[in-house]
Amino acid sequence: MSKFIQFPDPILRQKTELVVSSDKRFTESAADIMSFLGESFHPDKNGILGIAANQIGISSSYFLFWDGDGYDIAINPKINKQSNEIETDIEACLSLDGYYLVGRPSKIEVSYISYKSSYKQKVTSFEGLTARVFCHEYDHLNGKLISDYGDRKEISRIL
Ligand SMILES: [Zn+2]
Repeated sequence: MSKFIQFPDPILRQKTELVVSSDKRFTESAADIMSFLGESFHPDKNGILGIAANQIGISSSYFLFWDGDGYDIAINPKINKQSNEIETDIEACLSLDGYYLVGRPSKIEVSYISYKSSYKQKVTSFEGLTARVFCHEYDHLNGKLISDYGDRKEISRIL
């Protein structure tokens, strides 16, 4: 997975900039990452649940994620509300080695411009794994990594 920017590259720690409608970097890289994944890809096959723009070297506010029903790109995402209930689970990251235990809200209400919905503003809720993925990628856009949550866990086998 060396095609993704690796920690400790400083771009992973920078807060990303909002995407503006004239942002050519967005349209080109979005086309790249969607074609890289292709329509036949699925998290069960490639294990990829999300990629943030700064992980491919672009400090812009968008990420690709599995929304439970296919890949979408969330542009200028926001988390509007989150549940008090926290679930702790194992996470991995394309930019880091190892696995970390991370607590995430079990449910979130979010808004973003949706690539899949022809760039319409979308307001929706996610729970469980999809909420976890969204929070993980959202953290990337703010320069935060799963290693900030605690100690690396040695896990010999992916569950
Ligand atoms: Zn990550």
